[in-house]
Amino acid sequence: MPAKSPKAPRLSPSRINTFIGCPMKYRFQYLDSVPSLPSEPMVRGSFVHRVLELLLKRPPTERTLDAARADFDAAQDEFRQRDDFRLLGMDATDEEAFWESSRECIRAYYRIERPADANVVDLEKWVSAPLGEFEIAGFIDRLERDARGLVVVDYKGGAPKSPRYSTDYLRQLTYYALMCEVQLKETPHSVRIYYLGGGKDDHTRDARVVSQTVTADTLNEVRDTARRVFGEIEAGKSTGRFATNVTKLCEWCDYQQWCPAHGGDPSLAPTEGTQRVELRRRQVGLEPTS
Ligand code: SF4
Repeated sequence: MPAKSPKAPRLSPSRINTFIGCPMKYRFQYLDSVPSLPSEPMVRGSFVHRVLELLLKRPPTERTLDAARADFDAAQDEFRQRDDFRLLGMDATDEEAFWESSRECIRAYYRIERPADANVVDLEKWVSAPLGEFEIAGFIDRLERDARGLVVVDYKGGAPKSPRYSTDYLRQLTYYALMCEVQLKETPHSVRIYYLGGGKDDHTRDARVVSQTVTADTLNEVRDTARRVFGEIEAGKSTGRFATNVTKLCEWCDYQQWCPAHGGDPSLAPTEGTQRVELRRRQVGLEPTS
């Protein structure tokens, strides 16, 4: 029997974006697998995605407000059991504020579109594309079809950002367009972000929806970027050198205490990171992971 060829290394669009943002953070997160604690915006984002996934799985005529309320309740039951939600360690007041801000996101979604009009082709669709020595792969939140063809859609739980400040997200979605081109043999004509956060009624639909046309140039750009990042990761793995990128985002970086740019020792991160998460698990009544 011929020997099985080894699986090609895999990169997801979010891994690529993490590396571009800060190679050292990539090392902590994906190479050293330092466990991190979930943040509230992260968990809220997952929760809102889940509610909209349940809603849009329904036939268009059944995507009513009552259905959305039922899907919200079902997702709430699921999340109350999930480790990432429980690790937030919220008291009753914080938890109510969490559900209320999630409801606001769903209300914002309803101001963007009528769910019955969304021509959904697929949800949470796994796509991949070989790029020589490696492949890129990941889940598309939502793939839809309009009069011009396919559109890759993602929801963000944050406040609206102008197209100029949405570059990283739009690039991330363009990787998915590239994967569709390879896997489905059809290139989406656009990528689109729905910003669902940022408070009650103070953002117009136009501010909340940011789209970018997919062109041969944008596809080539992400293809080249993925290849460059893959080469730099492999070089870092050989040399052990991963650059730091100090920006104001360091303030929210889960690994700052071990980051050499902030006086930390990266070799302590796997042990101390694990202790930190295990401590929180005990505090919120979860079983240890091992
Ligand atoms: S603290 Fe800043 S420089 Fe250090 S790993 Fe995190 S993002 Fe990178």
